[in-house]
Order: sequence, then structure tokens, then C-alpha cells
Amino acid sequence: MRLLVVLLSVLLVVSGRPDPRPNLHGAQVLRVVPDASWQLHYLMALQMQGHYDFWTEPRAVGKPVDIMGTAFQLPALHAALTQLDLTPTVLISNVADLLAKSTPRNTEANRQMNWDDYQEYDVIQEWLESLASEYPSVCRVEDIGTSYEGRTLKLLTIGTGAEDNPGIFIDGGIHAREWISPATVTYMINQLVTNSEMYSELLSTINFYIMPSINPDGYAYTWSDDRLWRKTRSETDSSLGCKGADPNRNWGFHWNEVGASSNPCSDIYAGPSPFSEVEMQLVRDEISKRASTLKAYLTFHSYSQLWMYPWGWTSDLPDDWKDLDDLAQTAVDALTAVHGTQYEIGSSTNTIYAAAGGSDDWAKGVAGVKYSYTIELRDTGLFGFLLPPSLIIPTGEETFEGVKEVGYFIARTYGK
Ligand SMILES: [Zn+2]
Repeated sequence: MRLLVVLLSVLLVVSGRPDPRPNLHGAQVLRVVPDASWQLHYLMALQMQGHYDFWTEPRAVGKPVDIMGTAFQLPALHAALTQLDLTPTVLISNVADLLAKSTPRNTEANRQMNWDDYQEYDVIQEWLESLASEYPSVCRVEDIGTSYEGRTLKLLTIGTGAEDNPGIFIDGGIHAREWISPATVTYMINQLVTNSEMYSELLSTINFYIMPSINPDGYAYTWSDDRLWRKTRSETDSSLGCKGADPNRNWGFHWNEVGASSNPCSDIYAGPSPFSEVEMQLVRDEISKRASTLKAYLTFHSYSQLWMYPWGWTSDLPDDWKDLDDLAQTAVDALTAVHGTQYEIGSSTNTIYAAAGGSDDWAKGVAGVKYSYTIELRDTGLFGFLLPPSLIIPTGEETFEGVKEVGYFIARTYGK
């Protein structure tokens, strides 16, 4: 313990605020696997400071943690990890190189919605409008408000039956740099809407409410300035010059109790207050409005290939965890059957790391949506956030099979 205190104080001295546009030449992503809980706690404290960019979160003993260091930071990062008996392996040896390779083609053709490449926010929004006008009997779109920087957030409802049919709420892109999330969510929207005759029974029994990109300012910033930006873009504390809060630490349920930071420069900054971020207020209100009919909530992140359920704020399990675990298993089986992609079904069961303020906890704990899941999409670290666009369609295909299983289950169990 004393060692830990000493190390932490050393680290606090060297900590600084992250450069909003880090120089990625020479940056690497290192992986360590803590095998003792004190190492895990140390890594959590290191993440909390906001000095290094954690690509994955310290979850549990035996689970890998991926940390990016810039060329400038790498010697200190190596030294700190080695001192803790952690042996880092180089997961991504040249972040700048990988980033250059995964940059979308800026062509006119690519400004039409497609899944051969990632898409900008306005392309996705215009596409939602065009779907609603082309398929008015299957889906409708509504503007639900504007982001901090003034971008419109849209919600697409897919369903051919009654308005009070059981519902599934799906969102993507809460963390800006997790590009595979909006890409996968839009892929699934496209399947449901353009092949609606294949899903006519499903769509007449349940309603899907979908928002593919709920952190639009952050997402736009990953296109314009910093591909690895995670948070929102609000002005939270101008004196420090650091912008944005972690929108998945900002939800008002056990807010900022654990696994979140009060440092505005941290990537896991909970924000100045619960629901300080206007985008999260808007999503919250859409869920609240439909709380009596919503049976499932799915929020898509990357990466790690995990299908997780609450609670995040405590290592206790919800009373009905077995129901959630069973449905997760069904969904993951269907997902894996497509391309063999392995997923881990996660809960707090074997996890000692908690993080409060997540949307899945709020959906279950406050809105009362029984089947609430956080899904971490591909991959397991080979490309991390810089997943090549050629993997969008395979990821979409397999994820859609899992989501359909959730849909069929909700239709069978709650359909009228
Ligand atoms: Zn995420």
C-alpha cells in the first residue's frame, strides 16, 4: 500500500493536462494485464489523472488494459508500468501510421451513405431524413433538439404497429472516437428499413427507437481535429482550458460516485453535475418519454467485444441478472455464428472495477428498462479505435444478428 501511495504521488507530480491535439508521431499503444488488485487500482488511479490516453478501461484482474503514450510520454509510461511489475507489450507500434491508413476517402461518392467507409455526421443525418421520406410506412424521423455546438439530433422510429408496442431503444456514438458504433447502428437501421418485408412480423410487434450518433460535437471533432477525441465539446471549466465531459459518466444515477473523475482534463470527467451535457439530457428525455413501453436499451461502444449488463456503479448484480445474462447469451451466440467473432458476456460478477454515470445503469435503475446492455464492438485491440473500414460490414452483419435475437425475444415475451 505504501508503495502505491509513493508511486501515485510521483505520478501526480508529473501529470499535466492532455494536449487537445496530441502529436501522434511515434505514439504507441501498450497493453498490460494486471494480475493483482493493487496493480488494477494503480491503473485506475493513473487513468483518473488524465495524463495518458486509456484506450480500454481497467476492468478486472486478468483483463488487458490498453494505454496510448505519445513519443514524449513513452519512456515515463514504460518506467511506471515496469515499476509496478507490469510487463507492457506493444499493441500498436505506430499509431500515426495506422491512423493515416484508416482515414476515410474524401470523395464526392463517399458523401453518399455507404458502409464501405465511415461517414460524417451530416451525411448520417441527411440519410436518416431520406429513409423516412422513402419508407414512410416503416419509419419516421424527428428532430429532438440541438447539441452544445448547435447540431441537430434526430431520432428514427422503426415500426409498423401500435405506438404503445413494446420498444427497444438503441444509441451509438456516445464516445466520439468509437467510429464503428455509428457505422454499425446505421448498418442495422438500413437492414431493418430497406428489408422491412423480411421483418414484417417483428416490426408490427415492436418499435425500434434509434439514435446512431448521440455525441455529434465530439464526433465532428474527431473528423476535423483529433481522431482520438472521446468526450463532448462543452466548455466545462475554461480556467483549465480542457473541454468536454465523458458523456458515459454523466448520467444521473449514482453519478460520480466511483470510476469517474472530477478533473475536467480527464477523459473520464463526469461533468460539473449529472446531465450537465445537453446531448445526454436529450437522449434521457426520449427514453423517459417511452419508459413504460421500453423493454430493452442497447448502447454501442468499441472496442473489446463485450456484451455487458448492469450494474456499472457497484459490483452487486441486479435481482434479475439471470434474465439479462440468458438473453445476452442468446444474442452473442447468434452474433458469433456469423463470422466466428468471440464475445465475452460481462457483468459485475467477475469485475471489481466500477464506473458510475453510465447510460445503461440509468436506463435500468431510473427508467426501469429491464434488458439494458452496453455492447463493446470489434476488435480486441489489433486496430482498436482505428478499425479499418473494410470491417464495417462484417461487424454490422454479426451485430445485427445479435440485435435481432433481442428483438425477437422482446416480441415473443411482451408482444400483444
Ligand atoms: Zn465507449
